[in-house]
Amino acid sequence: MVCQKGTLELKTFRNENFTELFSVHRAVDVEACICCKGKNFKEWTSERKFPASECLNCGFVFMNPQLDASGLRDYYQNYLSKRRINDEAKMEQRKSQYRLDADLLSNRGYADGVLLDVGCNGGFFLEALGDRYERYGTEIDSESVAYCRKHYTEFASNVYHGDLIEAKFGAAQFDIVTLRGVIEHVPNPSEIIQEVLRILKPRGVMFICATPNVDSVAARIYRENWVLFHPVQHLWYFSPTTFKRIMNSSGMRLVWEEFPYFGTPYEHFEADLRKFATYLNELETASNSNVSPPFFESMMSLIYQKE
Ligand SMILES: [Zn+2]
Repeated sequence: MVCQKGTLELKTFRNENFTELFSVHRAVDVEACICCKGKNFKEWTSERKFPASECLNCGFVFMNPQLDASGLRDYYQNYLSKRRINDEAKMEQRKSQYRLDADLLSNRGYADGVLLDVGCNGGFFLEALGDRYERYGTEIDSESVAYCRKHYTEFASNVYHGDLIEAKFGAAQFDIVTLRGVIEHVPNPSEIIQEVLRILKPRGVMFICATPNVDSVAARIYRENWVLFHPVQHLWYFSPTTFKRIMNSSGMRLVWEEFPYFGTPYEHFEADLRKFATYLNELETASNSNVSPPFFESMMSLIYQKE
């Protein structure tokens, strides 16, 4: 079945209201799969209200249509006060996950050097990485940039307000480029990956982490009720397989892959299994809109090295 084209009639999703956003900005159709260039899709979500497509050729999943680039810029303004620092318990959980992600990088042997965090938000991950790195960041939200400059004097002057392409860093400037929960948000992931390749030193690494994995058991069962499904923020739903395909001719090779869950602040294994069982049970009898728990495989961390 070929996915029907259409406008995104999205008014609300979970606790968010998009009425204003979509009254000003438009949604654009994805004409070809960004992974394999295929043009035949089927619907991935079970409700037309949240239209995501799955490429029939390679299995890549993506929102279709998607909010256009200017709409996305608008959406991410004041992101910090809208979505982040107003929930202290969640913020603490995030901070401890930032430390685990920072440890993953240093434990793999990438413990110092010149580091850039793309989409650095309020500077929280840069802070967790610590002063063994010479730290830089880019961020499109002015409020997050202001927060970062006010709270983190050590790298305040190294945070660029704008996107990675606009920042025009020098060729081979960085040892490490991190994209923490970022690559699934950007309108053109391949353009970002090419730019990362350009600004990395030879043998430098790109660290992708906190990126949703659509091949996970939670995504397969819950679809649009998967906790990491977000019709405006998460444009692209990678899996280890589709991400490898996108990286195939990138000039970088995969050196590490893992799926953080056990030992993270989000692990509640037995309770999470019970939620799965209840959800599957109720799916057979009535519509069930409970959101999935975090779970093993749902998030992936990948390290790619420039050849
Ligand atoms: Zn494809």
